Amino acid sequence: MRAAIVGGSLGGLTAALLLRDLDIQVDVYERSPAELVQRGAGIGFLPDAARYLVQNAGLALDDISIATSCIRYLDRRGERIYEAAHGYRFSSWNTVYRHLLALIDPKYYHLGHEMTGWSEGDWGMAVQFADQSSTAVDLLICADGVGSTARSRLLPQVRRSYSGYVAWRGKVSESSLDPATRVVFHDAITYYVLANSHILVYPIPGADGSIAPGERLINFVWYRNYLEGSDLDELLTDTAGQRHDLSLPPGSVRDAHLAELRAMAASRLPAPFAQVVCGAAQPFLQVICDVEVPRMVFGRVCLIGDAAFVVRPHAAAGTAKAAADAWSLAGALKRHGDVVAALADWEPRQLALGKQLLERTRRIGRRSQVDCNWIAGDPELIFGLHGPGA
Ligand SMILES: Cc1cc2nc3c(=O)[nH]c(=O)nc-3n(C[C@H](O)[C@H](O)[C@H](O)COP(=O)(O)OP(=O)(O)OC[C@H]3O[C@@H](n4cnc5c(N)ncnc54)[C@H](O)[C@@H]3O)c2cc1C
Repeated sequence: MRAAIVGGSLGGLTAALLLRDLDIQVDVYERSPAELVQRGAGIGFLPDAARYLVQNAGLALDDISIATSCIRYLDRRGERIYEAAHGYRFSSWNTVYRHLLALIDPKYYHLGHEMTGWSEGDWGMAVQFADQSSTAVDLLICADGVGSTARSRLLPQVRRSYSGYVAWRGKVSESSLDPATRVVFHDAITYYVLANSHILVYPIPGADGSIAPGERLINFVWYRNYLEGSDLDELLTDTAGQRHDLSLPPGSVRDAHLAELRAMAASRLPAPFAQVVCGAAQPFLQVICDVEVPRMVFGRVCLIGDAAFVVRPHAAAGTAKAAADAWSLAGALKRHGDVVAALADWEPRQLALGKQLLERTRRIGRRSQVDCNWIAGDPELIFGLHGPGA
């Protein structure tokens, strides 16, 4: 069996490794001409996201992520208003990508390959790329993310829906913080809830992957509301005057918005949070949106990860969902020798998983950004792919 995976990020790489382990001949095609880098993006690292690296590659969780032991909420004065023992793992997108990529033979990871379409017939299936090349396969796995080309082609009626808010993100080196601020953030996920908004801060590995205290980074994610239309257009227009769709990378946010972010942090956030936000050299932002698909399987083609459902980040489960789609697909392919039968068996569970996660994260987002009825320590807010804490 030959499989092509379109999209060489965390979901695509996990699927490639699992299929390779089943002796399927698998190639990954990534649009980007260079290896991927997501500068500064920390991730809540749930068990499904870590599973391949730990269970199959034998890496120690402590070498690729940071354990925190408590969930904490501060009030405006910086006083602790809630604290509970709860273990989480945090990593960075770059750390996980680098480790997964190292497990793939580079000759099967093709950079600079943008999939433009595919054709199917009695003769089989061929995937086409922007450089006019093509490849014949038995199975096409589309892990091409939130702006999925495959989804647009297969489900043109499915649209991204804007949540009403964006995530401002950034990081500072732990060693640059005041000792008192370091103590607040070093072993916890720490929240501050304000009207129609919330911010969370947690430690992530350093730029070189180091998890040693002092060499780590402190990462923030601050959810803030912007009206669709001119308000959002203005925010998403970069320093060169170009309007972006889904994110503004580090270094491209205009000075007026950076100044507003820092002024708002200084005037509205507890001092430790303000120090992190104001100390971040190049804050960047991601638009929070939802995508819900009615199907994930189309004959010999399937959608996984963000190419299928895009969920809000409030459960820290996006990469875990992409990995879970891949694990479950590998299990179905192992059970059924036949691709079409395997995909038919696989689809219902993953549709149910995507739907429940989307509904839950929408509800959490609405409570924070619209209804303002978050309660510090509310059990619904515990991260998890299958449910709070699960
Ligand atoms: C603010 C924010 C915070 C988040 N926090 C967390 C968190 O704490 N924990 C967590 O697990 N998740 C988190 N996520 C979600 C997580 O980042 C995504 O769910 C995850 O990256 C999806 O992985 P993926 O492999 O499906 O897609 P992506 O990572 O989007 O990768 C898609 C890949 O496909 C490539 N591609 C696109 N089109 C083509 C084409 N036509 N041909 C070839 N290649 C193509 C792209 O270049 C890209 O490399 C967060 C997301 C946001 C926005």
